[in-house]
Amino acid sequence: MGAGVQSSTLLALSAEGTLPKVDYAIFADTGWEPEAVYAHLDRLEREIAKPAGIPLLRVSSGNLRSDALNPDHRFASMPLHILNKDGRPGMTRRQCTGEYKIKPIKKKVRELLGHPYPSRIPKGVFVEQWVGISTDEFHRAKDADVKYMRNRHPLLDLDWSRADCVRYLTSLGLAETPKSSCLGCPFHGNAQWRHIRDTSPSEWADVVEFDAAIRQGNARANASGSRLLGEAFLHRSRVPLSQAPIDHVTAAERAALRLGEGEADELENGVADGCSPWSCRGDVDAAVQDDFGLAA
Ligand code: SF4
Repeated sequence: MGAGVQSSTLLALSAEGTLPKVDYAIFADTGWEPEAVYAHLDRLEREIAKPAGIPLLRVSSGNLRSDALNPDHRFASMPLHILNKDGRPGMTRRQCTGEYKIKPIKKKVRELLGHPYPSRIPKGVFVEQWVGISTDEFHRAKDADVKYMRNRHPLLDLDWSRADCVRYLTSLGLAETPKSSCLGCPFHGNAQWRHIRDTSPSEWADVVEFDAAIRQGNARANASGSRLLGEAFLHRSRVPLSQAPIDHVTAAERAALRLGEGEADELENGVADGCSPWSCRGDVDAAVQDDFGLAA
């Protein structure tokens, strides 16, 4: 339950009885979601989950933002945009989804099954996990990587697209369902950066400050002697966020940058698959370099 459009739809469909009632909804909190997501989550819990008797469980592995800046804390690296000393661009490995989303969900699932880690889970014991993937993103659907979780994709079974979900949520008074992801996720496109800048000055100050603070990589890697040999940035232009070109890219600028349509779309709207714990993002991961010492 990421609290975005698709998972909010699944929860509501289950609560109203169109889909069978789920036993639990689990939200993995990275500690750095936008305020709008936390507010939306509270509302979902109050108005939809609770009245239907669905417990909404919030789980966490810590606070991604403060962990990145704490030299004493082991940190799972974010997919930062890197500018190497020789000018080559790169990205650091994405470990944050696994650490801050998948790990606490699996831990809770094992507890719910009555077999907390490290006890063995008997053969044939599993949860059915519903994942909110709509027809426009069907390529993201995949199986879980452990035997005690079996993924189902009810929106695909219903043949619902994202637009169907938005229509449905609008009918429930939830038209403003925000996109869920960390406030300073480097997968953001310009539209998301502008949205933060233009609607929430305090959150914009927060991401600009974080961007400056990770210029030399994460604090733990620096403290342990694995310094980043280059500079790290939140924005894909590899320019400090406060100066990054996040306003609309004109056709002339696009031509000057030699951006294809797909790249221009990604620049504006972010990486299409974003951060989903249960779907593959091979395109970005394939381009990743992992020799920056940010895994410490
Ligand atoms: S939203 Fe971005 S920063 Fe947050 S866990 Fe996912 S990939 Fe990492």
